[in-house]
Amino acid sequence: MVKNPEVKGPQFEHDCDSCLFLGRGVYDRDEKKISVDMYVCPGTSCTFIARCSSDGPDYFSRDVSWITKSFVTKDASHSEIWELAIKRCKERAPEVYEKVELFIEHHTLLKLMEKKEQRIQNKMKNLVAAIKEETDEAKKAVLDTALGNLLDADTTLFSAKCFIENDLSPF
Ligand SMILES: [Zn+2]
Repeated sequence: MVKNPEVKGPQFEHDCDSCLFLGRGVYDRDEKKISVDMYVCPGTSCTFIARCSSDGPDYFSRDVSWITKSFVTKDASHSEIWELAIKRCKERAPEVYEKVELFIEHHTLLKLMEKKEQRIQNKMKNLVAAIKEETDEAKKAVLDTALGNLLDADTTLFSAKCFIENDLSPF
């Protein structure tokens, strides 16, 4: 039974001196809610930790890229505990949050590119369907040109996305 997860200090022993305590949180482990101590370890990879007990290996951890991606995309891997960890990191460890923010920006940009790419691909699909239906040769030529432009835009967008993904990664 979790009574008050917001209460001050850590409940468990933690074995890393570099880690910064981010308060307590409620973790959903195997559909059972447990009170955990949250930390951020500001090493080169920057890891978030949810400690479940004083037993050394009894914790869950996520690296900064994973955690910010799930925060931005709110996909299936998204969970409230890690969102809370990001929020607390901003409040309690602003010097680490600067790095977290870079990753949030990175994933936000990628999400935006993916949306644009999806939109172009949908437009292309519709155009291809329209061209197939079309019998008038003149109209067909116009549609072909439009499709060519969309293909170019899609290729450009794809290259830009790869560039952001690889060359502009905060890692
Ligand atoms: Zn640590």
